[in-house]
Amino acid sequence: MTNSVVIIAGGGIGGLSTALTLHQIGVPCIVFESVRDLRPLGVGINLQPNAVRELYDLGITEQDLDRVGLPAKEWALVGLNGNDIYSEPRGLFAGYNWPQYAVHRGLFHVLLHEKVVERIGSEAVRLGSRVTGYRKKSDGGVSALIEHADGSTFEVSGALLIGADGIHSAVRAQMHPNQPPIHWGGAVMWRGTTWAKPIRTGASFVGLGTHRHRMVFYPISHPDPQTGLSMINWIAEVTMDNSEGWKQSGWFRQVSIDDFVHHFDNWIWGWLDVPALIRQADCAFENPMIDRDPVSTWRDGPVLLLGDAAHAMYPTGSNGGSQAIVDARILGAAMIEHDVTQEALAAYDAKLCGPISQLILRNRGAGPFGLLNMVDERCGGTFNNIDDVIPPKERAEFMAGYRAAAGFATEQLNKAPQTIPNGARVRTARAV
Ligand SMILES: Cc1cc2nc3c(=O)[nH]c(=O)nc-3n(C[C@H](O)[C@H](O)[C@H](O)COP(=O)(O)OP(=O)(O)OC[C@H]3O[C@@H](n4cnc5c(N)ncnc54)[C@H](O)[C@@H]3O)c2cc1C
Repeated sequence: MTNSVVIIAGGGIGGLSTALTLHQIGVPCIVFESVRDLRPLGVGINLQPNAVRELYDLGITEQDLDRVGLPAKEWALVGLNGNDIYSEPRGLFAGYNWPQYAVHRGLFHVLLHEKVVERIGSEAVRLGSRVTGYRKKSDGGVSALIEHADGSTFEVSGALLIGADGIHSAVRAQMHPNQPPIHWGGAVMWRGTTWAKPIRTGASFVGLGTHRHRMVFYPISHPDPQTGLSMINWIAEVTMDNSEGWKQSGWFRQVSIDDFVHHFDNWIWGWLDVPALIRQADCAFENPMIDRDPVSTWRDGPVLLLGDAAHAMYPTGSNGGSQAIVDARILGAAMIEHDVTQEALAAYDAKLCGPISQLILRNRGAGPFGLLNMVDERCGGTFNNIDDVIPPKERAEFMAGYRAAAGFATEQLNKAPQTIPNGARVRTARAV
């Protein structure tokens, strides 16, 4: 008989949030992560209020999050003439009961790992262990096929397997063997961090430029009390011809700043010097903006997809990681209702797969940055007064539509009951 352990493939934001959630509700689990060493890699991401709410419910505190980031105060789009196209407050400043946090992705990831080790134990995350596939068992359980970094292979059996192994998911590849290859729409992002003085509110997300050529930047640390400088996360983005597909090998690589800074040569204003911001970074990474076409289901019997493995999407809505955290919590809620069973996986799939697949397509249409496409269509990007191009009401309605689709409409979120009530446990909870 298969034991009741839940196997998690992938120890990223999604996998570790799942481990913390399962532990909280009394379900034993084990995470297999392919890298040998968890290091604080990556640059910045925003955690939306719907995700921060779940983190607080997981006992991750404001103090914890202030170590890895800071509460965001504003989201703003600015045209190349330096004039605002749109701005809105964020998090607590927008009336949510929870903040939005702009965090260093790598430090946040390490924080989650520390919490897992502290609460479940050092054996909870097996590093250097790549899940290569799965085998469904006749008793309803599942075996994960695992390759260790030393080349050895083994199988681990459990009640369920959660594929949280990211956009290149091996679990998804087996579940959907005919899925199309990764989709690239032509945008290339270069990303880095630079210590600099934060502008506007001191915690503003700024998208500057046009629908095909822009710079996004926001602070991801509180300012240093001595220098006033914050770590600024920046993403420089240009849309290119994609008719011949992505020509570089691999989807992520370190590049020289000279390879791309020329795209931003003249982007200098009294309040911002983009080439200087880019040049002062220690290093830069190139990422084509990629996603995957939605699939019809995220479940195959006792196997489930979660996070980017389920719904890799363009980062235009700043919500892929936030959604991975919410996924973990919805899975936990489904287990409270249906126990550690395939019915729980079916309930999660029924609730999330349809609407979040729609969100993937919406982000392909630029997500909230769609306002820049509207500016381009209506005035070719040149305007004096944005109100003559897109009236304030239309701008506000456009943004409200995105928030609702992404699950962080203010009123609904504030009024929604906790995803997992305090103290809730699965029926078969063990004393863990
Ligand atoms: C430029 C950019 C900006 C972004 N900005 C935001 C933002 O502001 N807000 C936001 O919420 N999200 C943002 N995102 C998205 C966010 O980073 C991802 O959605 C999130 O990291 C997904 O987490 P995950 O755990 O599902 O996948 P991943 O982070 O990819 O983690 C998967 C893990 O599984 C491991 N793994 C892979 N294959 C295997 C295997 N076969 N076996 C075992 N382990 C395996 C990997 O090593 C990794 O640790 C952004 C993304 C990009 C590219």
